[in-house]
This record gives sequence, C-alpha cells and structure tokens, in this order.
Amino acid sequence: MVISCDRCSSEFECDEIPRRGPICFRCHVQTIDFGFTHGKSDFHGPTVRERQRQQVEQASAAGIKAEPVGNRWV
Ligand SMILES: [Zn+2]
Repeated sequence: MVISCDRCSSEFECDEIPRRGPICFRCHVQTIDFGFTHGKSDFHGPTVRERQRQQVEQASAAGIKAEPVGNRWV
C-alpha cells in the first residue's frame, strides 16, 4: 500500500502502516537523529567527522580557511 507521510507528505510504499506511524523512512531517521544522539554517533561512526577534520587541516595547511559545511546534514 502507498502511505502518505505524516510529516513531509511524501508518499512511500509499505506493506502496512509502520509501527512508528505513517512516517516515511527519511523522517523516521530524522526522528532518531533528534532522539538518540548517542546512538547517532555510533551509527555514523567517527569517519565522517574525522574526514571533515582532515579536510580542514589539509586546507589550513595549504593556507585556505575552510570550515565544515553543516555539522549534521552532510
Ligand atoms: Zn516524511
């Protein structure tokens, strides 16, 4: 069946309404993101942040001032 998301109104397909409610996976992930910051760091791992840090370091080593673009929604 096609379910229309309660949060962003986008339609997604599912066998039945998920236990989390009529929420698409994207919005569901965002909910997790807000609700469980601890689990989030496990989920993403240090790699993204670490890579970001390395890029900034390399850039500043090259004389360029660079900042990570956004902390969360990369
Ligand atoms: Zn949604």
